[in-house]
Amino acid sequence: MEFDIPQNVLELKEKVRLFINENIIPHESSYDYTTGRMPEDLVREIRQKVKSANLWTPHLPVSEGGLGLDMVGTAIIFSELGRSFIAPYLFNCDAPDEGNMHLLHVAANERQKEIFYKPLIDGKIRSGFAMTEPPPGAGADPSSLKTNAVKQGNKFILNGHKWYCTGANGAKFLIVMAKVNDSFRKTSIFLVPTDSPGYKMVREIGVMGSHGPGGHCELTFTDVEVPEENMLGRIGEGFSLSQVRLGPARLTHCMRWLGLARRSMEIAMNYAKNREVFGSKLAEHQGIQWMFSESALEIESGYMLTLKAAHLLRSEKDARHAISLAKWQVSETLNKCVDRAIQICGSLGYSQDLKLELFYRDGRAARIADGPSEVHKMVVFRGLFSGKHEF
Ligand SMILES: Cc1cc2nc3c(=O)[nH]c(=O)nc-3n(C[C@H](O)[C@H](O)[C@H](O)COP(=O)(O)OP(=O)(O)OC[C@H]3O[C@@H](n4cnc5c(N)ncnc54)[C@H](O)[C@@H]3O)c2cc1C
Repeated sequence: MEFDIPQNVLELKEKVRLFINENIIPHESSYDYTTGRMPEDLVREIRQKVKSANLWTPHLPVSEGGLGLDMVGTAIIFSELGRSFIAPYLFNCDAPDEGNMHLLHVAANERQKEIFYKPLIDGKIRSGFAMTEPPPGAGADPSSLKTNAVKQGNKFILNGHKWYCTGANGAKFLIVMAKVNDSFRKTSIFLVPTDSPGYKMVREIGVMGSHGPGGHCELTFTDVEVPEENMLGRIGEGFSLSQVRLGPARLTHCMRWLGLARRSMEIAMNYAKNREVFGSKLAEHQGIQWMFSESALEIESGYMLTLKAAHLLRSEKDARHAISLAKWQVSETLNKCVDRAIQICGSLGYSQDLKLELFYRDGRAARIADGPSEVHKMVVFRGLFSGKHEF
């Protein structure tokens, strides 16, 4: 594993840090907590600035308007822009669109790229990824999948009930996981435009934290006709393709969460340097110093795990074990760091004057979404006990 960051990535990292500090963080106050949205004209204005600075869709190849970074470079840049919770959307690399772009880049044919991928990478439309279903359907265990597509001539008739589909309200299309002809083995992925008759966005589910535009939605599909040319890949490739998306997408979550964990500690550091208690600065009390040191250890460990998993993906090696370790560790680290930062900042940390309370609520989802920590521990255990991985 290479520990030196290439000069071009290092320069880009500095550029992103400056850009975030100057052009993004000052606009965080325009973010509406209740709707998860920012004023549209402001979004357009900032996105234009991002494009002018050549920072748009940083994860994509240069030929598609991105920065041509490999997975390790992407990890470094995403961790930097993750310092602001509004940055990923403004850079057009937020979940779920970023993961959906990756999947379409790898698996879509030319026609599908033209209709779904190109407008997505241009930031003209948004998308959703619909896998999770209400009980007894698919959740942590995808083998309970109930949504079903029945082949009828040159189309499929899709029926199902999904929820927690991030960004679905206002999305132009959804990437939907469904069985085919009730066969789990034939699980496939369908590209479903949201103006398809029979599709319904039932509601944006009220959640603990904030969310980007489009919320986390409950959806129903009632006899939705999906032309066969809207199938991604072939019949039965649903789970292998979903791994193409979910592996890197879990890792890009880690990258953004590391940024947020670092930002939380920066906010706490600023407070601890200035606030005096019991005759000395907060930062001079050992109990507080250890909170910073523990956070540094956890953030650095999570960063190393994330970079290792990114390195394996870049080398096209099996990264599942490493991704599970990283996703489990970083999601827990984010929660611990934000919690410590709030404690250090006292009542101000608990207030809405700082952003820590928002990070606290948002961070809680990290331990559940894209596989709860327990599922990642299960994957790690299986890797060890099958002899495929060592301690
Ligand atoms: C903010 C947010 C955004 C999301 N966005 C999307 C999205 O865009 N698209 C999408 O398809 N889904 C999305 N999800 C759903 C998410 O991926 C699921 O919540 C997750 O996979 C867990 O499924 P579940 O909620 O049904 O939990 P369940 O399957 O009901 O599991 C409940 C709990 O059981 C425990 N558990 C599960 N398995 C094990 C095990 N093997 N051992 C021990 N304990 C276990 C875990 O603690 C888990 O939290 C989102 C969720 C959230 C919170």
